[in-house]
Amino acid sequence: MRRAALLLATMSLATPATAQVCAGASASMASDGRVYGHLPYGDAPPDDLVAAPPGFALHDCQLRRDMIPDLERLLAAARGDPAVMGQLRALSCHRSILRQASVFCRDHPEAGGLGDATRAISVAPPGHSEHATGYALDFAVRPANGCPDAEGCMAATPAARWLVANAPRFGFEMSFPGGNRQHVKWEPWHWRWVGTSATAPGAARARFIFAKARAQFPADPAVDGVRTIARLLPLVAVSVPPWPAPTPRKGKRRR
Ligand SMILES: [Zn+2]
Repeated sequence: MRRAALLLATMSLATPATAQVCAGASASMASDGRVYGHLPYGDAPPDDLVAAPPGFALHDCQLRRDMIPDLERLLAAARGDPAVMGQLRALSCHRSILRQASVFCRDHPEAGGLGDATRAISVAPPGHSEHATGYALDFAVRPANGCPDAEGCMAATPAARWLVANAPRFGFEMSFPGGNRQHVKWEPWHWRWVGTSATAPGAARARFIFAKARAQFPADPAVDGVRTIARLLPLVAVSVPPWPAPTPRKGKRRR
C-alpha cells in the first residue's frame, strides 16, 4: 500500500517526464502519471494476494484477499440466477508489472507488432495496468459458444449482461466502459473491486488506489449510485468505439 502510494506520488510529481515501456522505448508521461492514457499502478504486496475461489480460474489466478468474500457472493448469485447461461470464470487476475511488460512488449514493433501507442488502446503498458493492483480481473463466460473472449460479443451474453446489472452491488465496477474518455478500448470483461461502500472491509485501500481513475474516468456501471449509461440505455445501444483490428495471433489478447 505504501509502496503504491509512493509510486503514485512520485509519478504525479514527475512532469514533464517519460516512462520506459519496452526495452529501448519510452513514452511521454502526462502530469497525472498517465502513459498512453493509462494511469499508473504499483504492484500488490505479495502477502495480500490469495488464490481465487476454487473452480473459478481458467488459469493461475491470484487476487487481493479483501475482495474474495464479495467475489464469492457474486459468483453464488450468478450461479443461482436461471437467467445466467454459462458460467463466469476468471481469465486474467493479478498481473505483476514484470508480467505486464512481457504481455505489452511481446508485440513490440521490433518483433513486427503494432506501435506502442496503438497497442496501448487495448493493452496497458507496464506499471499502468489495474491488474497489477490485484483488485482487477477479466471475466470470461464458459462455455463460450463461439463467442470470443476479447470481443464485444461477450457483452451480449446473458452472463455479461447479468454482471452489468448486478456486479456493482457486490462492489465491482466496469473500469473501461464504451466511449470512455481515457481512450481505452471498451472492456466488458474487465472489472475492478472497490467494495460495496467506503466503509466495507478493505474498501478504503482499493478506493485510495483507484481514486484518480474514479474521479476522472468514472466506471460504468459504477458502485456508487451515479446514473450510468448502462442504466439509462439498453445495453445494445451502448456504442462500441472503433479500434484498430488486432494483429491475428494465437492465444487471447488481454490488457
Ligand atoms: Zn483486464
